[in-house]
This record gives sequence, C-alpha cells and structure tokens, in this order.
Amino acid sequence: MKRKFYCPKCDATLNPNVKIVLAVVSGDTRGLILLSPQPGNYQVFLPEELVLEEGKKLDFYCPACQACLNSTVDENLAQVAYRSEGGGGGRVDFSRIAGEHATYFVSQDEIRSFGENAETYGTRNFFGSGEGE
Ligand SMILES: [Zn+2]
Repeated sequence: MKRKFYCPKCDATLNPNVKIVLAVVSGDTRGLILLSPQPGNYQVFLPEELVLEEGKKLDFYCPACQACLNSTVDENLAQVAYRSEGGGGGRVDFSRIAGEHATYFVSQDEIRSFGENAETYGTRNFFGSGEGE
C-alpha cells in the first residue's frame, strides 16, 4: 500500500518519489537524509559529510518549511504525518537517536510499532498528545 508522508506544519509532501526526504542536523553539520518509507527498514542515505555517530541525538526538520519535527510524545522522538492511499492516516513517531530503531505508526485507533528498540518508547502516551483529531 502506498503512503504519502507529509510535514505536519506546512503539509509539504516528504516522499515526492520513493524515499522520505528530511533535513537533519548532527552537531555542526546539516544536510538531507533519505529514509525508507517502509516500516522497519532502517536503511538511510546520507551525504558523505554527514557522519552519524551511534547513540547521538539528531535534529530533524522539514526540508520545505524548516519546521522542527521533534515529537510531542518524547524528546527522543521525531514525527511526521502520513496518509494511506485507501484513506486513513495518522502520524509516525521515530527515534532521533542514530542507530536506535524504533518507529510507531499512530492512527486514530491503533499504534503499530517497528524496530528492535520499539519497546524503549512503547509505553509513552501516543494518543494523549495529538492535535485534537
Ligand atoms: Zn514543513
């Protein structure tokens, strides 16, 4: 099923082609990162000047409006929104820690978690901090 990922602030599509494009800042270096839209696939593409140190917290921004994508659920998570082709959608929270694999697809009535570190934030209140709907 195809999913469209978009910025929760400006609505820009973040996966105009296949990969999800985000701006990322690691220490003093900023750049663009490509993420797989496939839940549980942690393959990333980075420019060579951007070296990710395991365990380091990254800052993610919308490449269109520069809004900070930090999650409201936990300071170690970032979030984007998604819509599914057949209708429905929600948001995706994912870990900002390099090398930590934890992703949560949060829709109106369920949370699906992915990644071998998913338990780390599994007990956070994903429903309590939405934007109303
Ligand atoms: Zn934006």
